[in-house]
Amino acid sequence: MPIVPHIPTYLKAVNQPRLAMDLIYLAKDPLLCRTLNHSLPGHTKSTLQMADDYIMKCLAGLGFGFEQVAVPVQAFQADHTVPHGFRKPLPWEPVYNAMNLYFIKRGVSHPQELILLLAHKDSQSWLPCAPGAYDNASGTIALMEIARVLSGYASKRSIWLLFCNEEHWPWTSVAAAQALATSDYRALAVLNLDSLAGKARHGDPPANVTRFSTPEGEALADLMIALNDQLGLKMIQQKYLCEMPNDDDGSFIHAGIPTAVMSIGSYPYSEPNYHKMSDIAEHVDLDNLGLAVQLNLATVLHLDEHGSAAMLPA
Ligand SMILES: [Zn+2]
Repeated sequence: MPIVPHIPTYLKAVNQPRLAMDLIYLAKDPLLCRTLNHSLPGHTKSTLQMADDYIMKCLAGLGFGFEQVAVPVQAFQADHTVPHGFRKPLPWEPVYNAMNLYFIKRGVSHPQELILLLAHKDSQSWLPCAPGAYDNASGTIALMEIARVLSGYASKRSIWLLFCNEEHWPWTSVAAAQALATSDYRALAVLNLDSLAGKARHGDPPANVTRFSTPEGEALADLMIALNDQLGLKMIQQKYLCEMPNDDDGSFIHAGIPTAVMSIGSYPYSEPNYHKMSDIAEHVDLDNLGLAVQLNLATVLHLDEHGSAAMLPA
């Protein structure tokens, strides 16, 4: 499939200072973290509720429809007797409402065909005030920037941007996936943006991995490799087969939607500060993040133009 002529113009609109501004707000000052079990001194709302407010304020007026769905969740608890350092909540521990935030663009000519982008906006609920800058302020701000760039874009197909929660339990993408699976929409692609640009060593060349678990996901991964090349994005773009669907993209595959993949900076994930207090805003490679935003944006625009035919080999 040829490159859609308008794609480079949209890619140029990706604005790195805006990415930096959102990153600082969500992962350093004022929020530092985004959980339901932590509030800033003097505030009654939790840091995750304040993050929701920030996302809603920034994306208001961009022309998207908006819906929010409350999902009851609990915080994970620290447990230093297990390797990953946390455990699932017990039934009597506190229950909170976590919000799935949907920003909705209805397709002009094929409204039942859906391109869904999602990112978990929460940070690690078992760590007191962990910034989660790569995991997953990076994906959150990528989604916010894609919303801004697509603000005036009249899409042929429906495009939804979903801000969900994956560091509390249960993951709220499960409820979103089950609702989508029983709807009349046909999901052409579900792109989970998580820990974008996170690599083994700071200073390594820009990179992105599309992790897939199904043949449909592999077709999407191949499309992203082709788009990275054809658009000259100068990013090392790879694909990785993960036979056990997992994370927020896995929620959709388990719900019967096979077109779900994850964009991530490396896989197996190798950013050295993963799930540590040192996953801070200052470590985030904004150049790499900008390229990953451009690639995901290009994928959306290409799929919107060509529909499922976009996945056919060239
Ligand atoms: Zn995580």
